[in-house]
Amino acid sequence: MSGTNDYAVRRRRMVQEQIAARGIRDQRLLAAMSDIPRHLFMDQALWPRAYEDHPLPIGSGQTISQPYMVAVMTDALGLSGGERVLEIGTGSGYQTAILARLADWVYSIEYIAALSRRAQTVLEQLKIFNVNLMVGDGSKGWPEQAPFDAIIVTAGAPVVPQPLVGQLADGGRLVVPVGDRGVQTLFRITRRGEELVREDLGGCRFVDLVGEYGW
Ligand code: SAM
Repeated sequence: MSGTNDYAVRRRRMVQEQIAARGIRDQRLLAAMSDIPRHLFMDQALWPRAYEDHPLPIGSGQTISQPYMVAVMTDALGLSGGERVLEIGTGSGYQTAILARLADWVYSIEYIAALSRRAQTVLEQLKIFNVNLMVGDGSKGWPEQAPFDAIIVTAGAPVVPQPLVGQLADGGRLVVPVGDRGVQTLFRITRRGEELVREDLGGCRFVDLVGEYGW
């Protein structure tokens, strides 16, 4: 059985070899990923594999994303500390924890109640309190809390969910995988007044975004 210190060593290695070595430079993001104990967001049987370079199952047919993908998506949001962030797909809560370290407040929506409950428990254990979790259809966003400076969708959508675009603040960024089931392109959409700037950030693979504006 590994001790806390072993996991800290594995985390530092994960950050160096899988994230910094692939070009992520944001020091706040690298520090957050070095600090936050990713293994606690999955079943204990998976702890020995928690820092491997791929997604892992979290139950209910869902996954905790690959560490590098968490880093790429978070980096694309360009967080500097004061933002209100909306996350669609809480899953294990790991990405939520990273966002909570880098922004002012995180709103996160998960479709599957059992996953949201477990994520809430781990976030409380880690004393991460600048988050609001909700169970529901995140493809519609969270209109009561809009606008958001950054929105991240951690499941693959058939098209960009329009309610999310509508809930972006001026200058806000939406990072979302869009495409076919099982293979998508990661897009960043930035609102500049009435104009929307769309950038292609490369290929990715996510589980389905379900709900009204999903599959
Ligand atoms: N960010 C997560 C993590 O770090 O563990 C990974 C999330 S997993 C790849 C995608 C999640 O999106 C799943 O938990 C799934 O249930 C959720 N999901 C899919 N469609 C959704 C929707 N319409 N609203 C909210 N959550 C949704």
